[in-house]
Amino acid sequence: MKEKYVCPVCGNEDSRYIGYSNGSPYCRLCLPFSGKKADRDFKVKENIKLELSYPLSEKQEIVAKKVKELLINKRNVLIHAVTGAGKTELVYYSMAYYIKTGLHVGFATPRRDVVVDLQPRIKEAFPSARVISVYGSHSTVIEGDIIVLTTHQLYRYPSYFDLLILDEIDAFPYKDNFLLKSFFRRSVKGNYVLLSATPSRKDIEEVKADSGEVVTLFERYHKAKMPVPQFVKTGPYSIYVRTLRYLKKYEEESKPVFVFTPTISEGKRLFGFLSFFFHNGSFVSSKEEERKIDIQKFKNHQFSFLVTTSILERGVTVRDLQVIVFNADHALYTQAALVQIAGRVGRKIGATSGDVIFLAEEENDCQIGAIEEIEKYNQSLEVL
Ligand SMILES: [Zn+2]
Repeated sequence: MKEKYVCPVCGNEDSRYIGYSNGSPYCRLCLPFSGKKADRDFKVKENIKLELSYPLSEKQEIVAKKVKELLINKRNVLIHAVTGAGKTELVYYSMAYYIKTGLHVGFATPRRDVVVDLQPRIKEAFPSARVISVYGSHSTVIEGDIIVLTTHQLYRYPSYFDLLILDEIDAFPYKDNFLLKSFFRRSVKGNYVLLSATPSRKDIEEVKADSGEVVTLFERYHKAKMPVPQFVKTGPYSIYVRTLRYLKKYEEESKPVFVFTPTISEGKRLFGFLSFFFHNGSFVSSKEEERKIDIQKFKNHQFSFLVTTSILERGVTVRDLQVIVFNADHALYTQAALVQIAGRVGRKIGATSGDVIFLAEEENDCQIGAIEEIEKYNQSLEVL
């Protein structure tokens, strides 16, 4: 019998995804990922220094040093930091340490818009470095001193990174994706750091089993506690009226609002209803370009509310934001998703509080779990 074929690029050995061309096997799973690969001999510039223009908080400082210490001891790290803790800052010392010794550093994330946001921030911290971003339509230059990239592009870097940081490990499309996880593992030559505000038990177990350690930071950068969500019981029709009342209240207080709906169709229906009464809102599109315009208008106060699916559960920070979760008992809302959504509120210095309202017929385990999780983070701050 023929020896089992294992794809050298992604490690796939499932025969359903293996094809034959002139009798030779090839992998259908990673076939679309066939672009050029990075040059492993690429030389990182000398004397690159971290030049932060603002201080880390006391706790960020402790965690950042701890992470660096673990990496020096060849350990992998999972940083579990609440939303608003300033996760990126926690790896700067480690990045600086690796670059100083001419090693290859990468910062990967599942989402392209995060890559686009992150690249200038990292460049600001390491002004003399060539900080490049690599994503789908942007992959002409793939070598640099620091490479910020989507997880899809990791296939270009087999056994390349001495330090690879992976942000948002529980975000779509990375989560539960065999191919992307495989690209990630195969691109790590040295050690890795995973970042998440809501790691699953499995994530934690996996990193521990892989000579890793979990480091936590439950304090937000501005030191205030996370707003605790509030459950408000409604009926199938009264939920519309409730939403309306909240919007009216926030409008009077001049506070911007996100209304999360579990599905696009529910979002459209709710937005249609709300539009009878309020004319200064929008239903956020799943198309990236249109979404950007909506968010910009919202930030400029042209819109006072946005109805959105979970697409805005991460990444966007708006001063004084209030959040309503419509039909919060829907099966699509996991505990982690609800914690991420609640994490949108109270992120700005001087505006650290706000409402997170779970509107639903029932308070289910995910809602209770999310509330308890946030209370646990807040309590841990009192103990310290
Ligand atoms: Zn493959």
